[in-house]
Amino acid sequence: MSAVAIPRSTAAPGAVLPGSETRAGAVAPVPLEHEDLVVHRGSRSGRYVIVAVHSTALGPALGGVRLWHYPATTDAVRDALRLARGMTSKAAAAGLGLGGGKGVICAPPQTATGKERRDLLLDFGDLVESLGGRYITAEDVGISPSDLVAISARTEHVTGLPPERGGSGDPSPFTALGVEVAMRACALVRYGSPDLSGLRIVIAGLGHVGEKLALRLIERGAEVAVSDIDPAKRQVAAELGARWIEPDQEMVAECDILAPCALGGAIDAANLPLLRCEIVCGCANNQLADDSLAEALAARDILYAPDFVVNAGGLIHVYKEVRGYGETRARELVLGIERNLEGILRTAQERAVTPLDAARAVALERLQAAGEQPAAA
Ligand code: NAD
Repeated sequence: MSAVAIPRSTAAPGAVLPGSETRAGAVAPVPLEHEDLVVHRGSRSGRYVIVAVHSTALGPALGGVRLWHYPATTDAVRDALRLARGMTSKAAAAGLGLGGGKGVICAPPQTATGKERRDLLLDFGDLVESLGGRYITAEDVGISPSDLVAISARTEHVTGLPPERGGSGDPSPFTALGVEVAMRACALVRYGSPDLSGLRIVIAGLGHVGEKLALRLIERGAEVAVSDIDPAKRQVAAELGARWIEPDQEMVAECDILAPCALGGAIDAANLPLLRCEIVCGCANNQLADDSLAEALAARDILYAPDFVVNAGGLIHVYKEVRGYGETRARELVLGIERNLEGILRTAQERAVTPLDAARAVALERLQAAGEQPAAA
């Protein structure tokens, strides 16, 4: 195992990443405070495979593996460090016995297929195995369930395999349930009742999670409007009985709850002043293009439910594999997002901080209670 200190230069060309990172154009510097950083050149592929373990204070470090082409390996390392750190906060804020880690496979510029892809996946599997269970991998950008099956040929520390391979399969129903109960917590704090019936809710992104969420909310009696950049989703909306909104109007539609359920960076400095919602609560990762926007939302009296608390249902879904829980226990944990988020929102009110800061503080308190020590300089 090797640990590598990464220069904090921003001079390297930025990786082009999905979601909010695209807008930033580069992977920002990340403090090196991780337990492990392993950068290994795969013997089959000749390409770098990386695992960053940020913390195992609460349990094994779980986080997806990203298969992506980066202009420079240092960008890939920074991305692994940044994402691993985020996973620690996510698991801790959700109250799970999991640490934070992330894997990155440095892909060639063109999509890797066939033997080239398999070699990359096997090299990564060997690296995961070498960590002896301190890091457990899962699906992330660029990785499919069949890729996880390939990785599992070299290591047992894989979650989210297809059900026929003993895994838990599609997490989106759990994620959608978690978002629904998170909305109940928001409604309770904002309006004094968790009842969602009659509330006007806009879902921006009618994908795996968005569609299931829309159905759940319609069943609860909410007035649901949906949008998607894929025009074919208009038919899905009609079948659900949801009102259709053109995607260029989704962020400015007047509503009680805006649910960003597409890519990251949905809320940025340009559209924030135009929002006409009272609550932001959706499943997308990294909804704020920049963390400072949490302050700007609070200044506009818009209640922002931190995305990593709201969308923890997906993580809980794979957590049940790690802990060997059944569906019932996993469902209880997802329903627990409601009380967890309510606690965070109330803490934010009491301490006069943003919900984002409160969620981070709650995560830190749980880590410190578990004996997490800050890294020495
Ligand atoms: P998905 O790819 O199935 O759906 C995303 C949908 O958003 C697609 O239909 C796409 O056409 C649409 N879209 C893209 N850009 C849009 C835009 N600007 N406006 C409107 N629609 C747009 O993805 P998903 O699995 O439903 O996940 C959605 C988000 O939630 C992602 O950010 C994901 O990282 C996050 N998330 C998902 C899960 C899960 O269980 N799937 C868990 C945690 C977090």
